[in-house]
Order: sequence, then C-alpha cells, then structure tokens
Amino acid sequence: MRKFTDRKLLVATHNKGKLDEMRALLAPYGIEVVGAGEMNLPEPAETETTFVGNARIKAHAAAKATGLPALSDDSGIEVDALDGAPGVYTADWAETPNGRDFVQAMTRTWDECEAKSAPLPRTARFRSTLVLAWPDGHDEVFEGKAEGQLVWPMRGQQGHGYDPMFQPEGFEITFAEMDPAKKNEISHRADAFRKLITCFEV
Ligand code: IMP
Repeated sequence: MRKFTDRKLLVATHNKGKLDEMRALLAPYGIEVVGAGEMNLPEPAETETTFVGNARIKAHAAAKATGLPALSDDSGIEVDALDGAPGVYTADWAETPNGRDFVQAMTRTWDECEAKSAPLPRTARFRSTLVLAWPDGHDEVFEGKAEGQLVWPMRGQQGHGYDPMFQPEGFEITFAEMDPAKKNEISHRADAFRKLITCFEV
C-alpha cells in the first residue's frame, strides 16, 4: 500500500456535511484539509454504477485538476427490503429541479417499504468508500459500513442526508439525534477512515 506522506490533502466533495465530518476525522493527523468547493473545482458526473467507481471518478478528477493528493467519499444507504436500493443512487433519490431534498428522498424510501409491507425492523446499512488518489494516477481504496434500521417518522436535527431516519445498531437514537463526535466514532465513514489511516506516515 502506498503511504500518504504529504501535509496537505484535498477532500473531493462539495457536500458540506461530508466535508465537516471528514475534517473532524482528519483533525488528529495534522493534515491541512482543503475542500473541492473552496478551490472552485467542478463536480464531475458520477457515471459509474458502484461506490468505488464513483469515488474513483471524484478523487482522480480532483487530484488531476490541482496536483494535490485527493480523498473522495462515495456513500449511500442500502435498505434490505428494497434489495439494496437506493444504494449508489442515494443522492439521486433526493434530486429535484430546485436542488436536493432529503425529506422527499426519505419519505420515498419509507413509502416503498410500506408498499411492500416490509416487516419491521427495516434493516439497512450505510456504506462509505474512500478513494485516496495521487496526481500520478495511483489510488488506494478503503471501505466501511454501519449497520442499523430505518425509523419513521424521522427524528433529530444533527447531521445530514438520511441521518434522521437511520438508527444504528445498539442505539435507540438516530444519527441525527446523536452528538456528531459520537457519530464520527461509529459511522460507516469512521469505519473506512480507520482503514485509511493505516496508510498515513505519522
Ligand atoms: P454521494 O456519495 O455524493 O453519491 O452521496 C451519497 C449520499 O448518501 C448523500 O448525499 C447522503 O444522502 C447519503 N449519505 C452518505 N453518508 C451519509 C451520512 O453519513 N448520513 C446521512 N446520509 C448519508
């Protein structure tokens, strides 16, 4: 595995919720973190059908555009009763002509479970695939997950995306009701980060 020896890392996301979490997860390593939005990078189209495929598109586009090593996250929620949907299309389910609407996406997710009379608990997992790409085209891939169940109605104000309807295994509260530091200990992204840091030269 190639080691990460730089002091500056571009985080290839325009999603503020993800960027905040990734900044917090990287904070202990003394690495300067720059967001893709802060560098006015365009958002590449996510044309692949897998998390790793889309994460590679984002990380390599950002590394090539800036000459910096770039870290991307492609993530989503898989609902067992929906055969793994929305999965890699999680963000797409939130698209509206006026931007992303996660209340709409979460409502659709619950409604589709209802339409199938899916039994409770409606088990689901978040997945996160991190790709660390260097400007010379090399990359390393790290995968994480967090198991849990969907709850309805949605609960909590913290976090982002689908957090208000996801209750992680072993907890009675949703990610959106949880202290962000706690979420950053147990989330799918934290799981993938634990693998990522094995390539940091400290
Ligand atoms: P993408 O990785 O940009 O394709 O988007 C993944 C989508 O999955 C996000 O827009 C969120 O809706 C959802 N997602 C990923 N991670 C989380 C999380 O930690 N909490 C809530 N939703 C998430």
